[in-house]
Amino acid sequence: MQRRDPALRNPARGRRRGPHLPGATGVRALARRRARRRRRSSLHRLDGGLRGGAPRTVERGHRLLTRRLEGARVPSARAAFALAVLAACAPPPPAPSALLVTLDTTRADALGCYGNPQATSPNLDALAGEALLFERARTTAPITLPAHASMLTGLYPPRHTLRVNNARSLPPSAVTLAERARAAGLETAAFLAAVVLDPAFGLDQGFECYDAPPRSPSRTASAYAERSAEEVVDAFLTWHRRRERARPFLAWVHFFDPHRPYAPPAPFVERVGGDPYLGEVAATDHALGRLLDELGRDGTLERTWVIVVGDHGESLGQHGEPTHSLTCYEPALRVPLLVRSPDGARAGERSDETVSVVDVFPTLLAALDLGPAGDVDGIDLFGAAVDARAGVYFESYAGHLDHGWSPLAGWADEGGKYVHSSRPELFDPRTDPGEETDLLATSGAEVSLYRRHLERLAALPALVPERAGGDARHLLAELERLGYAGSGARDDELPEPLAAGARPSPHDRMGEAAAMSRAAALGDTGNLPAAVAALEAVLDENPHNLWARRYLGTYLLALDREEEAEPHFRRLVVAGALRAATVNSLGVCLERRGSNEAALLHYRRAAGLDPRHRPSLTNAAALCERLGRPAEAEAWRARLALLDP
Ligand SMILES: [Zn+2]
Repeated sequence: MQRRDPALRNPARGRRRGPHLPGATGVRALARRRARRRRRSSLHRLDGGLRGGAPRTVERGHRLLTRRLEGARVPSARAAFALAVLAACAPPPPAPSALLVTLDTTRADALGCYGNPQATSPNLDALAGEALLFERARTTAPITLPAHASMLTGLYPPRHTLRVNNARSLPPSAVTLAERARAAGLETAAFLAAVVLDPAFGLDQGFECYDAPPRSPSRTASAYAERSAEEVVDAFLTWHRRRERARPFLAWVHFFDPHRPYAPPAPFVERVGGDPYLGEVAATDHALGRLLDELGRDGTLERTWVIVVGDHGESLGQHGEPTHSLTCYEPALRVPLLVRSPDGARAGERSDETVSVVDVFPTLLAALDLGPAGDVDGIDLFGAAVDARAGVYFESYAGHLDHGWSPLAGWADEGGKYVHSSRPELFDPRTDPGEETDLLATSGAEVSLYRRHLERLAALPALVPERAGGDARHLLAELERLGYAGSGARDDELPEPLAAGARPSPHDRMGEAAAMSRAAALGDTGNLPAAVAALEAVLDENPHNLWARRYLGTYLLALDREEEAEPHFRRLVVAGALRAATVNSLGVCLERRGSNEAALLHYRRAAGLDPRHRPSLTNAAALCERLGRPAEAEAWRARLALLDP
């Protein structure tokens, strides 16, 4: 494949920032911005890392400003003194704020500003007119928790260590965007729409307010507990109306509506031609419009950076994937990304640079003037030209960890996209947007270049996982002494991105994924016997499929078939799937079968793995009560009460 010369691709590159004239913000503010951007460029050159780019060329706006200053009549000494005194007395302009909006499960091409012909996104389209739009933004992993962790830390998943949802927490040693903002005096607040971003998973680090939905009490539903975009906007606006206006803020607003199940209010389905997924996108856009309208009316937007970004796309059946998380094709990886500067810089521009959600962290650090980004993988999207050949990393370890398949890990740049697995692939999404032609057999040196990128990333330091893992290992040792036998993948012993492995590539297992999806749908509608039969068929073919085993155990337990459920939970625990829910479920099986002390041990360990795991605390309290240990039962109830202060 031939690489394009970025200068040919965009002949207007040197003028891309466009003019922005002094206007109401005044010369001092512009001069300060100039100085800040100079600082940013030099910092960026120092911190370039894997993806360091060249500083952008001289900005047209700055040249205009310089000409204005140079061409002005030279003032008298008295006038100059008066101007200086006025400048010194004028209050400094308020420090900028930032609003980060993350659109869960939103394909770029679901939005009008990315070419969707339906009326899905009038508010985002209007925002795009005021923002820099990135045509080729990708997520780091098509999975909610790792993708958001990349946005908030500037690190790729192998370095921040979150590879799937629900498994572990962001290490406390992570330096998050919210921590940096809070340390600089900004008010920090987050408004989440789904339990997958529960504070238990550590993304709350640095947020003074972290407003997440309560956990679902459902035992069998495969969907996450969520709240609508309208509810999230209500929560944000309630906070915004009460906050101290003089203090700048960093706010993160997360919308989850387009995630399965697709069930938007009827008017939105009608607006987009009957497509329920696009209806969810339209409902999200409508709620976001209400938020932006209020921030526009009360003047907040005049000093607020806005970044709107998807955490991943949605395959909608393309390449055989029903939803997302398992493949690394573009429908799951490509996301919308808009960056709106409060001074209107680069408004309405469209960039086809290869960028990533990992760039959110350094971009907002620079926008808020919070100092250098340090050793991170992202780059400031406003501070320097993106090196056309630097490229971005992406992965999905969900198939490996949950289904016993090969990991997927890859690198994409302007020349192409390499996907490593037990069956490596090479695509050129620019000429083959459907990724139908695997170019690996006819490829040359570029594959070794992509592999070198993956090797270099694997060699970079990663965050040290939380010590809670020690408790998990202790539990594992205890259970092994009890005679459990293991199988499957352990999430504390992950293969590096370039490991080949003998397990099949996820890209070849979409038939199995479809069977799992059908089983989950049966479970969600309450047809548990049929769901059990479907999952048993999946496990007959692939006994390493931990996801199928977890749901099979859960459905069997719900059907009061604990004797059949217990071996599945045992295998999961020994396979390294040390989740509080799994250990708790094993405890339930043991209690129902009369092994009370063993059951209590499991409830205790489940609560140790996740101190906020309500079912474990509830079960432990009830069992202690039943066993005639009121003091111990009271202690468990006291822990429960702490969750609802
Ligand atoms: Zn997501």
